[in-house]
Amino acid sequence: MIIVLMGPPGCGKGTISSFLSEKYDYIHISTGDLIRKEIKDGGDFARKINEYVLEGKLVPDEITNEILKKNILANIAAKKNIILDGYPRNIDQAKYLENIIKVDYVLNVTVDFDVIKKRILGRRSCPTCGKIYNVYYQPPKQDNLCDDDKAILVQRTDDNEETINKRVSVFNENNKALFEFYQAKNVLHEIHNDKDIQDTEKQVKQVLNLK
Ligand code: AMP
Repeated sequence: MIIVLMGPPGCGKGTISSFLSEKYDYIHISTGDLIRKEIKDGGDFARKINEYVLEGKLVPDEITNEILKKNILANIAAKKNIILDGYPRNIDQAKYLENIIKVDYVLNVTVDFDVIKKRILGRRSCPTCGKIYNVYYQPPKQDNLCDDDKAILVQRTDDNEETINKRVSVFNENNKALFEFYQAKNVLHEIHNDKDIQDTEKQVKQVLNLK
């Protein structure tokens, strides 16, 4: 089963993915995470990719498609259930994916722009274990320290006000065509992520027919 999560940055795709991977054993593939990993590995190639990310632009398709392919094929061969988070982000990527595997469900996650801003600007993560916090909605017990390993929490370099506006406008530019592409295939479902996580999980379970 292949699920695509669509939605603006900060809409909660990461949280929904964690829920599906922890409770239902889905493999979570986030091109944003994979791209950040490439950047962390360093080198000239990493520097070039990082320029796009820091400006809130999409990394060119030929690079992103290659990264996606490298990470999805083994999971498809192993017949894993997969959630794609942040991919595809435009029609060309959607067509590239179509040539690899059929998408079963597309969850279009919607949320208010004010909520998006607070989610992104408040987002912090633990550099050691990867646990995600939010200073407004889900703060750590001790200021800026991970609850589990006490590491100092970090903020993504592209989680700033200027880049958020750019990322949301890039999303809006591409989203309509992508939405129509999947709507025509009858796989599109809306998830309203404005209330609490329990409510969102309930909607996701209903759409995917999960117990
Ligand atoms: P995300 O973690 O999904 O918000 O992605 C962070 C950044 O990584 C984006 O702003 C893009 O620069 C890049 N990125 C992630 N996924 C893609 C994609 N499918 N296509 C192109 N660039 C991407």
